[in-house]
Amino acid sequence: MLSYQLDSIFYFIGETVVILGLFFLLSAIIGSVLVIYSYKTGHFVAAGLMLVIVSVLESPIKSVLKLTKINEDIVDDVGIHLRNYINRKKFLRVPKEERIIFIPQCLRSTKCPAKLTPEGIKCLNCGLCGIGEAKKYSEDQGYKFFVVPCSSFIKRIIRKYHPKAIVGVGCQMEIKEGIDMCHGIGLPAIGVPLSKSGCVATKLDWDMFRRIISE
Ligand code: SF4
Ligand code: SF4
Repeated sequence: MLSYQLDSIFYFIGETVVILGLFFLLSAIIGSVLVIYSYKTGHFVAAGLMLVIVSVLESPIKSVLKLTKINEDIVDDVGIHLRNYINRKKFLRVPKEERIIFIPQCLRSTKCPAKLTPEGIKCLNCGLCGIGEAKKYSEDQGYKFFVVPCSSFIKRIIRKYHPKAIVGVGCQMEIKEGIDMCHGIGLPAIGVPLSKSGCVATKLDWDMFRRIISE
């Protein structure tokens, strides 16, 4: 009798594991299809649900894409556009005077003469990189503009200035973490990915940046 009951329990556990495995596999396949569709068309289907699937199943979705020989980096790319899409309406309702822009220090020239201050790296608009002009353009529109020396700086500046919306420039990983952190404290954030990352003398499509912050 006892051995029959044990068999039933193991059978139940085995069945549950198989069903869960199939459920995750199916969800990862659906997530992969949605990611490919969004990457190719720029449209999102059920954006809120899709963000949950892409966030929870990021690794399995990347594995499915890898198996089908599709560049897995599109998951991060779509993830950022999806977050921007979800935040955009709320972001646009905030006046530019109540928005903050964070620019990573890696966009500076390697010969940057700027010094580190409690308000971040103080750009001198020396012309060696695009930050000086972007700072002037942004501040003329009403934004507060900071060149970020490290990620803890962002939290400190948010605590100090209480912005209502954020524009964050960075590599894909930094943007994803930044937008999610802002989401956690109720701030709509728009991410602008670097066109070349790598932590030193990185690159940004400044025209795209100006287009986004002008909205
Ligand atoms: S423009 Fe500003 S950030 Fe860029 S190199 Fe010159 S001082 Fe540094
Ligand atoms: S490439 Fe990314 S991690 Fe490296 S400094 Fe720039 S934003 Fe930070």
